[in-house]
Amino acid sequence: MSTSSPATKKCFNCSKLGNLRCSKCKGLCLCGRDCQVATWKSHKHLCKAISRNPNATCLLLDGMGPLGPGEFYAQNVQKSLQYAGVEVAVVNVLKGSKVPEQVGSILSEVEKFSSCIILGWGSGGCDIETEFGNSKIFRDKAVSWVNSGGRFIVQGERPQGYGNWPEWFGKSWESSDYFRTDYACNGKSDNDIHWCKWYHKAKGAVTTTRYNAKTVMLSGVAPEDNLFSTSDDSRSYSLVPMMSGRDIEGGQSAVAVGKYGEGSVSYFGDVNAEDETCDVMAIIARGK
Ligand SMILES: [Zn+2]
Ligand SMILES: [Zn+2]
Repeated sequence: MSTSSPATKKCFNCSKLGNLRCSKCKGLCLCGRDCQVATWKSHKHLCKAISRNPNATCLLLDGMGPLGPGEFYAQNVQKSLQYAGVEVAVVNVLKGSKVPEQVGSILSEVEKFSSCIILGWGSGGCDIETEFGNSKIFRDKAVSWVNSGGRFIVQGERPQGYGNWPEWFGKSWESSDYFRTDYACNGKSDNDIHWCKWYHKAKGAVTTTRYNAKTVMLSGVAPEDNLFSTSDDSRSYSLVPMMSGRDIEGGQSAVAVGKYGEGSVSYFGDVNAEDETCDVMAIIARGK
């Protein structure tokens, strides 16, 4: 156990005030050895993932599953984060891993992570939906963490399902169409809406202003939250000729990012974790 934090934190296990933290990850607040022993079985997977990178400021929760697209997906996001100078701790969220309360505590009480990316919300790879979406403790802690400056970023196929996380932050974002098409950044000048302006002015930002990706789009996104959306000249792309070249309605959101308190909440529906989307998310994770 280490004694680096003030005695104003609550022990994760017994809720008594304590000035100790898990000696390995320096994340979870605990009051003493008994509580460390009591939590170790459920904590060790998360603990090892965090202690592997003690300088990480971004917690990447990979719920896409250990096989198939998951590994590629998380690696692509991680590569973009590292390119943007963001240190990341990758946690594979396995079915039944029971970690949302611990993640919530680490985010809201330890001030170690300024951004958190959840991959696979509603994609069925693990229990992210039921564990995170339906955990009241996670919800309360995540909302308070964002309110005080955290950047909460979600990728998934059914954003409003499984606990409806957009609603936690007062957003009525819902899944809409799903296909490959063109997207344009909505910020092009100083007169544009705040997030888009910020995105373009982020120091060392990637310069993506238009790209093409296969995406589960959102409806219900307010104009000021719509960072990348379809434009009037967007077309569908497909290997199936009859599904290719169709006109796409403008204004559909591929990447949304909205303010909540001092922090932000974001969604990207890119189902292949294509480079441009990952770069955009990395800039959002890094912050202004
Ligand atoms: Zn305790
Ligand atoms: Zn630990």
